[in-house]
Amino acid sequence: MQIESGVSLKPYNTFGLPALAQSLVRLRSDADVRAIVDHPRFGRAPKFILGGGSNVVLTRDVQALVLKIEIPGRRLFEERIDAFIVEAGAGENWHDFVAWTLAQGWPGLENLALIPGTVGAAPVQNIGAYGVELQDRFESLDAVDLMTGRTVTLTREMCHFNYRDSVFKHDLAGKSVITRVRFRLPQPWRPVLGYLELERARLESGIADPGPKQVFDWVCAIRRAKLPNPERLGNAGSFFKNPLVSEVQCRDIIGRDPGLVHYVLADGSIKLAAGWMIEACGWKGKSVGRAGVYEKQALVLVNRGGATGAEVVTLARAIQESVYGRFGIRLEPEPVMA
Ligand SMILES: Cc1cc2nc3c(=O)[nH]c(=O)nc-3n(C[C@H](O)[C@H](O)[C@H](O)COP(=O)(O)OP(=O)(O)OC[C@H]3O[C@@H](n4cnc5c(N)ncnc54)[C@H](O)[C@@H]3O)c2cc1C
Repeated sequence: MQIESGVSLKPYNTFGLPALAQSLVRLRSDADVRAIVDHPRFGRAPKFILGGGSNVVLTRDVQALVLKIEIPGRRLFEERIDAFIVEAGAGENWHDFVAWTLAQGWPGLENLALIPGTVGAAPVQNIGAYGVELQDRFESLDAVDLMTGRTVTLTREMCHFNYRDSVFKHDLAGKSVITRVRFRLPQPWRPVLGYLELERARLESGIADPGPKQVFDWVCAIRRAKLPNPERLGNAGSFFKNPLVSEVQCRDIIGRDPGLVHYVLADGSIKLAAGWMIEACGWKGKSVGRAGVYEKQALVLVNRGGATGAEVVTLARAIQESVYGRFGIRLEPEPVMA
């Protein structure tokens, strides 16, 4: 385990933002994490945990020790009558892991295909797409406490999952390194197709009874058509969370803006489409400096080439102001600002 100095983080964040890590260490096991906790110089130093860098906005050089999570491993942990329990190391690439589970005959993660990043970061914001959230397939995880070096196992209840949220964004933020995650993939498999674009793909294909690989292919095709590939156009996916409001608030906004796109959730609360609100404020395709709003999806902010984190933040704030001014709703960024 070697501590590197003055490492450029530009290749390690999907926005392609420039920032230097004063010190960076690649962690490949729980023992590596413990070695950092016990390290005479870095043990008590501030730390920044980095996975695939697809949900961070780097606004400046990072003074904290960057812990680059590269813990490998995938295995069938347990086979139960009603589920396969599958485990993966935190450093595994998320999409490759999803594809691998399908190839092994353990479906259940196909709606979450093609989300960039690592397995270890997936619980942090309870990733979700096309009608499935990580918490729907979560069994437990192991994490190493950065104060004590002890490995603890957290159950679903202990993770406090919520919409793009978990305990790792609050009480445990920056305090423990997730090293392994276990997923519960239910048997028999049933497709989750309620999401509008998936339903449309099913109707257009004429396939009434799709298998998991078919759903995986549809999800990948929909995502490729709609989201920019970070390798060609830097971005961090959806930049703002879809705000949750009460029925009263929603009715109030619809009174002024009848076209407001919204979804009623099972608990009666209402999710507003942040992308629609941003587009309604005229931001689609616009830029501030070298940071811009993606032409095909206003919820995605992009790096048009050479943007800095400060430019992205300036653009994000300007969008928040306009949306607040028109709808009275404060948009909350999804990526972590560092
Ligand atoms: C094109 C694109 C599309 C996307 N689509 C979606 C989508 O559909 N749904 C969705 O939910 N997200 C989406 N995202 C966001 C992103 O892919 C996810 O949030 C992903 O889980 C981030 O993984 P990462 O490894 O890149 O995390 P990073 O960006 O490296 O880190 C994110 C946060 O997690 C923390 N963290 C990382 N690893 C660990 C660990 N092992 N232990 C503890 N903390 C850790 C970091 O400190 C940071 O706070 C998209 C992003 C892009 C670029």
